[in-house]
Amino acid sequence: MLRNDQLDQWDRDNFFHPSTHLAQHARGESPSRVIKTASGVFIEDRDGNKLLDAFAGLYCVNVGYGRQEIAEAIAEQARELAYYHSYVGHGTEASITLAKMILDRAPDHMSKVYFGLGGSDANETNVKLVWYYNNILGRPQKKKIISRWRGYHGSGLVTGSLTGLELFHKKFDLPIEQVIHTTAPYYYRREDLNQTEAEFVAQCAADLENLIAREGADTIGAFIGEPMLGTGGIVPPPAGYWEAIQDVLNKHDILLIADEVVTGFGRLGTMFGSEHYGIKPDIITIAKGLTSAYAPLSGSIVSDKVWSVLEQGTDENGPIGHGWTYSAHPIGAAAGVANLKLLDDLSLVSNAGTVGAYLNATMREALADHQNVGDVRGDGMICAVEFVRDKDSRVFFDATDKIGPQISAKLLEQDKIIARAMPQGDILGFAPPFCLTKSEADQVVAGTVRAVKAVL
Ligand code: PLP
Repeated sequence: MLRNDQLDQWDRDNFFHPSTHLAQHARGESPSRVIKTASGVFIEDRDGNKLLDAFAGLYCVNVGYGRQEIAEAIAEQARELAYYHSYVGHGTEASITLAKMILDRAPDHMSKVYFGLGGSDANETNVKLVWYYNNILGRPQKKKIISRWRGYHGSGLVTGSLTGLELFHKKFDLPIEQVIHTTAPYYYRREDLNQTEAEFVAQCAADLENLIAREGADTIGAFIGEPMLGTGGIVPPPAGYWEAIQDVLNKHDILLIADEVVTGFGRLGTMFGSEHYGIKPDIITIAKGLTSAYAPLSGSIVSDKVWSVLEQGTDENGPIGHGWTYSAHPIGAAAGVANLKLLDDLSLVSNAGTVGAYLNATMREALADHQNVGDVRGDGMICAVEFVRDKDSRVFFDATDKIGPQISAKLLEQDKIIARAMPQGDILGFAPPFCLTKSEADQVVAGTVRAVKAVL
């Protein structure tokens, strides 16, 4: 086994970490975090510290850590057939079974699933499918994609552009010109504090209408949105939001992509966020919860309406020229099958709903009166606390105050609990594995209260 100091040195010398302050890390100012093992909701680092992971990795280890059923399925698949491709009609029992299991759980009007590796490449696929779809329909201008400020859809060239967070654009020359952004459905941070929720929703719909009018409906192919904003701050949509948005999209024949990378497979206490909020998407993006991150796998579920045009396209043009070597990778597919079975066998989606509601309610009760807690919000097994300098006037802290990171560091130091300081704003996020118990939820809330009191 490597000594700690050697691991640290090798880490700093060789490893280019994503989403990391590279210079600080190289100088040794931020620690190397080496995680060794995990079980249930707990992970253990190299020094034997047991940490309660209240963010399930990157809100992805939904069934919890250390599930032998999934490990066995992966091992068995690797022994029997580690790889074969899925081009020109090839498949494995695992990938074919998984496609059926996904469609059995998806909204009725969905037709087929295309497999990728992660959420970013799935959204790249989705944009290409929208472009292909409109070319086949003889509408070559209808290509722009509307996304929301505060949305998160990945880190690729197109998907980093769809992402509506400054951090992911800065110094990368993004967004590209085919991507345009509209208002975030973020009622708490609305500009006009006198607006009711219904008025705010009407404004979001009007902003979208105006954007479409400005650009021309014949230039816009699709709208993409997470059912609930995730990385942009964990923000459930205001009541009536999706209905109002879909009315506008339908009027202008604009496809809707529901990015369910976080919400898919149970995070909100229902199988899909689309069913939770009454969304009828043309394409659904899935990743994280599909395998609970035991192996990389993502998917684009396409509706009957989209599928029929894709079929027509290949009759006219030959095979669809889009594929990844690792599409439907057998090991990912085997992990997915075992993962979806576990969700059913242990009723984990309903646990996400009930324990998640308990977590949200206890967090709200414990913190809502604190002078610097502006908002406690969430739905299902996802929750956020937003901090403000002044509660009534909604004056926010300066970014340089780093309140979110300070509180998450305190929570880790005092109670060995991991929450995520969300990348924009002073927001602390919680998205634990679905197997969280009520007493673990109590631990998370009590630790958070202590950390908040220690910092503010
Ligand atoms: N879409 C959403 C809603 C996400 O939250 C994420 C990642 O957090 C992605 C897409 C990108 O997924 P990946 O990091 O697997 O590429």
